[in-house]
Amino acid sequence: PRIIAAKYNTSCVKADQYPEGDTVEIAFLGRSNVGKSSLINSLCNYRGLALVSGQPGKTKTINYFDIESKEDISETEERRYNWFLVDLPGYGFAKTNKGNRNLWSSFIADYILHSERLMLLCLLIDGRHPEMPIDKVAYDWLVEAGVPLQIVVTKADKLTAKEKSANLAKIKEMYPTDTPPILYSSLKHTGRELLQQRINTVLVG
Ligand code: GDP
Repeated sequence: PRIIAAKYNTSCVKADQYPEGDTVEIAFLGRSNVGKSSLINSLCNYRGLALVSGQPGKTKTINYFDIESKEDISETEERRYNWFLVDLPGYGFAKTNKGNRNLWSSFIADYILHSERLMLLCLLIDGRHPEMPIDKVAYDWLVEAGVPLQIVVTKADKLTAKEKSANLAKIKEMYPTDTPPILYSSLKHTGRELLQQRINTVLVG
């Protein structure tokens, strides 16, 4: 399966602004600067789809993208399906007039508690920093809320082979989920097939 079309739909800050209809959703969440925008662009093979800020804490809205995926069922048959990719605000960093402080936007909790069409939430963990307390807080909150989770480990290209296995082991221990974490590099597109496969399984079985 692969994504064949992606386009920006809308941005919201509260539940009554979420798009109507019954299109199913896959959400992406992570600490600011974890590499979420880069991963969305890589996954959709679309350079400017999500804004790569370089400026942590910038995206403060929930952004919806219309996605069309295609899967070859046999040599002559294919299946196409539509879904929303939901880009949630990054957490853990906010520049305020009192300096920098930790932030878990209320939009995130509101979205998770109100979204009836959320099929999977991809929680992004920076491969170099698997033990950030704020990620554990986020994970625990999501598990408590009963959200189906996929851990995606970002910036894989920055890790040595040794770091890869050590940090993956740590991540499996800290953030247990039904399916193993997916190692992703947005630079090299490592993990793209696996993540598209996982999304496909969740959406169409
Ligand atoms: P966001 O704040 O989570 O949306 O993070 P961005 O996608 O804006 O990325 C933050 C920084 O990490 C940027 O400087 C990116 O170029 C860099 N980055 C993101 N993903 C990768 C990756 O897979 N490999 C490498 N080497 N750098 C990455």
